[in-house]
Amino acid sequence: MRNQKRAEIVRWHFNSGRRSAKIRCPNLYTDYKNSNHFGLSQSRKPIADGRKPKDMKPTAITSEDSFRDHFSGVSEDGKRNWFYPQKPTGLWHNRRVLFTIAILTILFVTPFLKFNNQPLLLFNVLERKFIIFGLFIGPQDYWLFGLTMLSFMVFIVLFTTIFGRLWCGWACPQTVFMEMVFRKIEYAIEGDRGKQKLLNKAPWTGGKILRKTAKYSAFLVVSFVIANLLLSYVIGVDELSKIISEPIDEHIPLFSGIVIFTAVFYFNFAWLRDQACTVVCPYGRLQGVLMDRNSIVVAYDYKRGEPREKLHKGHDRSAGDCISCFQCVAVCPTGIDIRNGTQMECVNCTACIDACDTMMDKVGFDKGLIRYTSENAIVSGVNKSITNRTRAYTVVLILLWSALGYLIVSRNDTQTTLFRAPGSHYIENKDGTISNLYTFKIFNKTNQVVKPTIKLDSPKGTLLFAGKPDLTLDGAGMSQGTLFIIIPKAALKSRKTKLRLSVFQGKEKLETFETTFMAPEE
Ligand code: SF4
Ligand code: SF4
Repeated sequence: MRNQKRAEIVRWHFNSGRRSAKIRCPNLYTDYKNSNHFGLSQSRKPIADGRKPKDMKPTAITSEDSFRDHFSGVSEDGKRNWFYPQKPTGLWHNRRVLFTIAILTILFVTPFLKFNNQPLLLFNVLERKFIIFGLFIGPQDYWLFGLTMLSFMVFIVLFTTIFGRLWCGWACPQTVFMEMVFRKIEYAIEGDRGKQKLLNKAPWTGGKILRKTAKYSAFLVVSFVIANLLLSYVIGVDELSKIISEPIDEHIPLFSGIVIFTAVFYFNFAWLRDQACTVVCPYGRLQGVLMDRNSIVVAYDYKRGEPREKLHKGHDRSAGDCISCFQCVAVCPTGIDIRNGTQMECVNCTACIDACDTMMDKVGFDKGLIRYTSENAIVSGVNKSITNRTRAYTVVLILLWSALGYLIVSRNDTQTTLFRAPGSHYIENKDGTISNLYTFKIFNKTNQVVKPTIKLDSPKGTLLFAGKPDLTLDGAGMSQGTLFIIIPKAALKSRKTKLRLSVFQGKEKLETFETTFMAPEE
């Protein structure tokens, strides 16, 4: 039973490391009758046809695979492992700093950018209004939103299949803020890994209280800023500035939103940290099925590195290039050893590349023992990024984007429904005309005010509104009412006639639609 549980954990990890490749096959079972009294395997036999013999159980884990036996974020006694990653330095870190500056600049500037007098990006989930690069998607365009999300997901699948977790390491707001903002604040106030550990173990002196207060106050301020940033994408900067400049009691719900989001971000960056990636994030969990042996990931070149051996001065070295310095483990923010192969916890932050390159430089070996590469490239020196799988995803993506493009181009600014009033019948008028009563609804699919008029194109006839309805539509607004359509009997050839109507704003035709008109049988 215990072995079975362990085997479950094995399957949970996606691992492409050579040392564990032999137990990755789901058809690999242990001959249980021949296992020793600890339940550990005496021999491992792959079952060629995939059958699972009755007297065989999933393979137990040997000590060399023991890293798979537990989650790096949890200690042996079930408590959380709090990681103190060493301050990263090096070429890849410098590149990431530059990229972070660029991405944070874009993130903070974008809410202020406007296109056609509306925000460039807006994700108002509260009112179901979205603006994506000037394209307004209102509640009526749920299909457009659904298709946009679907093509975005297919894009993510394609991107991940080729480039692995590049997004996680470089652009994900969680990693960007955690590693490049909150972690930097922590290093600046509490020092590097060793000093942080000492400080946490030290008694509560005045100095410790001062440092902890400074750190957590800074965390709170940054969390508040991020909460405002998030809200600027949800409600727009104009609404946000009202909350800031006007009395709070006029904006209690939105102000509460800022407070709640500040608390959530503070909790996330001060406490949850790496576990947001390893436990909460669904994208991280999907890596096992999205990536394959050709995906580019941060990987340890086990062909070059193994067998590992510490460096002994004056000794002829016959071992691999890994000198077992554990620097790659010390810098890892998720506490894993990349030499065990690609693991679900790895966010591809590149810190271990820099750490290993520094060591390689020091001992005079070539850099790149840990690098961006793929399992296939390590094994055969060749990487095939364009595979049948990526081709298939690309075709699906092109189809989705084409459909999306067509729907956007052919989309109208208004959507009108005009139905005969329920239970109503045609009316024969004394002047030789027939009337039908209709109810109508006009939806504004833009974010601007629209003043529509409805006209009957064919056959010739008259539209008569019941009362004087105000058809002026606010952005994403709706207007409704009832109207009569009156048509001369002579123009009606059958009991049921198709009518063609148009919606105009001034001289601009916004939409054309059809409905039916009932008349007495000839
Ligand atoms: S294994 Fe390397 S790339 Fe992956 S999270 Fe750890 S330090 Fe970052
Ligand atoms: S940093 Fe490089 S040399 Fe040192 S343990 Fe890691 S892989 Fe081996």
